[in-house]
Amino acid sequence: MYFIANWKMFGGLNSLNSINIVLKFLKKFKKNKLIKIIYCPPNTLIESMSKKLKNSRIDVGAQNCHEEENYGAFTGSINSIMLKSVGAKYVILGHSENRKSGETDKLINSKIKSALKANLRVIFCIGETLKEKRKKITKRVLAKQIKIGLQKVKRKERVLIAYEPVWSIGTGLIPKSGDLLKIIKFIREKTKKNKVLYGGSVNSKNISELKNVFNIDGFLIGGASQEAKKFIDIIKKTYS
Ligand code: PEP
Repeated sequence: MYFIANWKMFGGLNSLNSINIVLKFLKKFKKNKLIKIIYCPPNTLIESMSKKLKNSRIDVGAQNCHEEENYGAFTGSINSIMLKSVGAKYVILGHSENRKSGETDKLINSKIKSALKANLRVIFCIGETLKEKRKKITKRVLAKQIKIGLQKVKRKERVLIAYEPVWSIGTGLIPKSGDLLKIIKFIREKTKKNKVLYGGSVNSKNISELKNVFNIDGFLIGGASQEAKKFIDIIKKTYS
């Protein structure tokens, strides 16, 4: 099971101390071989976090990157090779918070290709908005995001898909287990080579319900990942 922490635009150098608690927990946790933890902090913390986690089983990822594979005149941007050079092994792409500010499926597709070329693994987010859910076009929306997002992508197995309904992110709402099961099954049918995760308001309470959706390969966790204790609780309860 994957447990991916998306810290979003939170955290300074002192936030790295909280990771000591997670490392300590992992040493004692009997099921630690069954899990893969990936921390995706803001870019400013990737290098120090990677150094801190160098000899651990926790990997570090970024939250986005520019689609250009080479260096270039793109003020304020960072590309995959830069992320790789400071220790990132993964990058989140297609997050709805970035789609909202204009990222198209085509752009996300270019980013995925560029990230894979730099030897990063990709956490590819897809999900429908509340309006699309109400219109009952969730499957159509997901199919389009997957089709364009993964068009001509080689080494697809290096892409993890995170199903993140937009209406669930940061709202405390999660899909009904039966609906989630069906959607994950649908995504698996479309992308046979990929791990499929769920993200959206995962916390230490609703994990007891979410863990019963047997076809999920892990969780992408935003708000609740910023506090080590809450993050650990989610992991513990997944196996209790
Ligand atoms: C996210 O933004 O990827 C996410 C899952 O956020 P939250 O857990 O806070 O809903």
